[in-house]
Amino acid sequence: MQVFLPPEIGFCFGVKRALNLVIDELKREEKIYSLGDLIHNPQVIEDLKRKGVVFVSSLSQVKKGTVIIRSHGVDPSLIRKAREKGLKVIDATCPYVAKVQRIAKFLSQKSYRIVIVGLSTHPEIKGVMASVAGKKTYVVKDAQEIERIPFTGKMGVVVQTTESLDNFSNIVKNLVKRGKECRVFNTICKVIRRRQEETKLQEIDQVDLLSSLLTLQR
Ligand code: SF4
Repeated sequence: MQVFLPPEIGFCFGVKRALNLVIDELKREEKIYSLGDLIHNPQVIEDLKRKGVVFVSSLSQVKKGTVIIRSHGVDPSLIRKAREKGLKVIDATCPYVAKVQRIAKFLSQKSYRIVIVGLSTHPEIKGVMASVAGKKTYVVKDAQEIERIPFTGKMGVVVQTTESLDNFSNIVKNLVKRGKECRVFNTICKVIRRRQEETKLQEIDQVDLLSSLLTLQR
């Protein structure tokens, strides 16, 4: 078996940025809190725990000190609440993810019905949904799911930063039939796009994604 390693192997820009922010803060503080897993990598999470990061699932678990916002982003109202509580907030939301939240908000302010392509259970999508809370929003993961979106006047589309371009294109192709105006923002991050392009250039029969050593051991 030939194994193809993409040129951009290893941590992406957003993950490196989040880790650097935490490491810098640990030079100043012995203990800091992370609202959810900072990144999706069990080994790194265990290492951060040893170094003084306490992972919490709710802001109510943090009474004082520093709270770090995960790379996938969170509900923006949580950041506001943390600051109101007097906590120091370090926002490690990846700038590509923050951009999806900003665009979704912009579209909702312009009265577009929001369609988010991605997984509704993913923390990034939960954060994007929260950034347009109270607005009519649909999350779809494939072309079949767009059937439940009613025909509409104005539709604004964003996509999870890690989505496959092929799946996104297929969904958009079908979505345009469901509205008079369809404004599409391709918010797949550059790193992911480059990795997908590299993989396509190779003659590959099977793709195994190894995101951590735990994955390898299973
Ligand atoms: S959006 Fe891209 S650069 Fe940012 S954390 Fe996700 S994969 Fe990494």
